Amino acid sequence: MRFVLLISLSLVAGPQVGALGGVEPGPAPPPVPAAAELRRCCSGFGISRAMEPRRPHALRVLVDMDGVLADFEGGLLRSFRLRFPQEPYVALEERRGFSARDQYAALRPDLAEKVASIYETPGFFLELEPIPGALEALQEMKCMKDTEVFICTSPLQKYNYCASEKYHWVDKYLGPEFVDRMILTRDKTIVSGDLLIDDKDTIQGHEENPSWEHILFTCCHNQHLDPLPSKRRLNSWSDNWRAILDSKRKARLGQD
Ligand SMILES: [Mg+2]
Repeated sequence: MRFVLLISLSLVAGPQVGALGGVEPGPAPPPVPAAAELRRCCSGFGISRAMEPRRPHALRVLVDMDGVLADFEGGLLRSFRLRFPQEPYVALEERRGFSARDQYAALRPDLAEKVASIYETPGFFLELEPIPGALEALQEMKCMKDTEVFICTSPLQKYNYCASEKYHWVDKYLGPEFVDRMILTRDKTIVSGDLLIDDKDTIQGHEENPSWEHILFTCCHNQHLDPLPSKRRLNSWSDNWRAILDSKRKARLGQD
């Protein structure tokens, strides 16, 4: 039996269901500031700085990519509906759990392969839209005194297109300085930092006690979760990310 989980597309920018069930192109996404324009705030910031030794009091912030900088979930749903217009889908407000593949499999087992085929398609990662405010926040963060920012992202196991497209995406939207600041790893627990801003609710790996504090970035798949009281959330890039950095910086100085 085939069924549709939810029809509402109110939160989805992009394709809309037509009267006959076809998919019509939705409104164009808002214009994204050019990388060069955003970089202007500290034009003297050289590419080589990413490779410099750590400054003793610098706060190191690791920022995830999918769901934090790039709109993976929005892009996935939009492309799924375009390619499989007759199939049921999971609206963004109904997303639960980190793995879209698992939720589609629960909806109907054969949908797992179909949804995976979307994010394994060449061009998928490259064409993701930036999350609102993300580019501006990273450029500002990069210019903050005693702050080091790196992009820390996990490529798919089927990395053929994903890994290179992530580099191209960062170059396109954030510029070459941030390409130098990219860390691609399947295990973020072994990366050293003070903060990790990430939409995945549970981050595990070889290191049982990572050096960073995980800040849960709110995304459609985790917004219903009630994380541990000790875990801080960043609801969006309009939320007060600067206060989180400041409090961590103060805590670090208190420890030194
Ligand atoms: Mg993510």
